[in-house]
Amino acid sequence: IMQLYVPLNWFGTYYRAIQKNFVDMENMFDLLTVRPEIVDAPGAPSLVIREGSVEFRNVNFSYNADREILKNVSFYVPPGKTLALVGPSGGGKSTIIRLLFRFYDVSNGEILIDGQNVRAVKQMSVRKAIGVVPQDTVLFNNSIKFNIQYGKVSAPEADIVSAAQNADIHERILSFPDAYNTQVGERGLKLSGGEKQRVAIARTILKSPAVVLLDEATSALDTQTERNIQAALAKVCANRTTIIVAHRLSTIIHADEIAVLKDGEIVERGRHEELITQGGEYAQMWEQQLRNDAAGERRGSVGSNE
Ligand code: ATP
Repeated sequence: IMQLYVPLNWFGTYYRAIQKNFVDMENMFDLLTVRPEIVDAPGAPSLVIREGSVEFRNVNFSYNADREILKNVSFYVPPGKTLALVGPSGGGKSTIIRLLFRFYDVSNGEILIDGQNVRAVKQMSVRKAIGVVPQDTVLFNNSIKFNIQYGKVSAPEADIVSAAQNADIHERILSFPDAYNTQVGERGLKLSGGEKQRVAIARTILKSPAVVLLDEATSALDTQTERNIQAALAKVCANRTTIIVAHRLSTIIHADEIAVLKDGEIVERGRHEELITQGGEYAQMWEQQLRNDAAGERRGSVGSNE
């Protein structure tokens, strides 16, 4: 989903801005023909990354004027720690990721990286500090090498190979017809979901950002692929501030904090064991997942993507 939402509903954000600034409806329609972008404040400085803490302070947000999507969301992720966002579909998990990347501006409240409001600094500098591993990675119609190097264009060959090794995709690349020069993407070799995700991981390892955002794939991967990806993800998250949108709770048992998001509000937060003991929403989700996993095993296997 990370690629899809950029051009989507810009209307809502813009509409609110216009509502504030214009009374004249005719003006509004003129302006709507121009695609709005999030703009840097004049003379905005670059974000200065020290340790990479991330904070949401009483954030409210809506895409459309008629419906509030995030309601007074607050959390703090200390440098190097991991926050997992879980909860029912539509709860607002991906929206949090989008706001942090500043695809949209908040309606109220503040988003701070190392104490600096993302609205007050250059957008480019925010994006440079953050690595994203999306659910579905779209590859460029170019070589696999290019697709990894995109994380850091100046990276030497040795670093690209090392990133691929850490992402557990190196061996696979060597098996391609032209190894690192193999053309991939729509017009080249098609990679599986798990392979594409590992390319995204390699790219992010190469980028070496202070903050990592992971949007976990909802599709089931086979157990071995899953394990390989988990190992690669663990490497990309090590010592980096991480926010993970989790669909399978088994992957976030060790998260420093889990926040349950429901209808745009954080309804529970804590570590896995605490939330299980609490016996609330999270505990129910966990029970459900255990039942689903058991049912999956009885059916024989989980579908493979590889
Ligand atoms: P899932 O687990 O299904 O990915 P989520 O918790 O990540 O869900 P979001 O994608 O953040 O949920 O969506 C939160 C709400 O915002 C949903 O009701 C959704 O319909 C709405 N929404 C998402 N993107 C837009 C958009 N571009 N324009 C308008 N509404 C949107």
